[in-house]
Amino acid sequence: MRVTHDLHTHTLFSSCCYDPEATVRAFVDKAHELGHTVFGISNHLWDEKVPGASGWYKGQTIDYGFEASYAIPADTHGVKILFGTETEYCGMTDNLGMLPETAARFDYVLIPHTHTHMKNFVIAENADVKAYRSRLSAAIEEKFPELGHDVASRMAGTLRYQEVKALLKDDEKTVDDEKYLADFCFSSFESLMKNPNFAGVAAKVPTFIAHPFWACGETRQEIERVFSFLLAERDRLYADFETCASFGVGLDVNIGTYRADENGSYGDDPMVAVMRIAKDAGCKFIFGTDSHSVKGLENIRRGDAIAEAIGIGEKELADIVK
Ligand SMILES: [Zn+2]
Ligand SMILES: [Zn+2]
Repeated sequence: MRVTHDLHTHTLFSSCCYDPEATVRAFVDKAHELGHTVFGISNHLWDEKVPGASGWYKGQTIDYGFEASYAIPADTHGVKILFGTETEYCGMTDNLGMLPETAARFDYVLIPHTHTHMKNFVIAENADVKAYRSRLSAAIEEKFPELGHDVASRMAGTLRYQEVKALLKDDEKTVDDEKYLADFCFSSFESLMKNPNFAGVAAKVPTFIAHPFWACGETRQEIERVFSFLLAERDRLYADFETCASFGVGLDVNIGTYRADENGSYGDDPMVAVMRIAKDAGCKFIFGTDSHSVKGLENIRRGDAIAEAIGIGEKELADIVK
């Protein structure tokens, strides 16, 4: 199957987009050039009616997000343009960043449950990292008492998670971080399925889980280990996807989360293995490049081989892209 849509894209309206050319107009032109029949814009947004936005999300309000919809040109070269959003789900607090009535204003909504790079917002730092920070904070405070507790603790907080992880000595490690991430991927997916606002959103608008079970921000080696824990629980994955399908919620086949082997085959890719289970459980799919640049939209061509590896044909696509 040739993939002729892309529903996961970020223009300059997303704070994480650094391509000055990534305007809505440029995306629409590129969608036409790539032969898409349906193309969606899905900037990161947090509904300000929901308390608990992180600093990063505070400026990405709904009104701001709608500015992108006004930038959709009148002439789309015949490409059907959908206006969507990628909101947020914080598994650690069971907080979905969008109310159903707000979601209804969009053509579709992507919900990620694994933005695990957003520490202490989406996922709590693991206990070893947390313990290291408190030792560091205490040491700073002891050496420089004039700073006081709050400043010392803030200083200890400025090190990045991965930096602290690298500083941990073997005897300071009690947590298997990849197992911790795999457990979180399961628990955040399962708590999302029970979240009342999730059910409300799913009832009002076509809804998709963005990059399901993909722990963001990890190295390839770490990701492989996370997948080994996930795939060791096939029945649990199947049950989770079955629940998801019962809500009519589909899955985002997120191109960047798949890796071909040296022969260009996706057959042994662990993300493919996860999505095959989802297909068996009855989930429908959309494809997305998750591109933050005009050039990145070209990655959709990898989608054809990925679709084949998972076993996705027209029948398995969500109605919205048909
Ligand atoms: Zn995402
Ligand atoms: Zn995205």
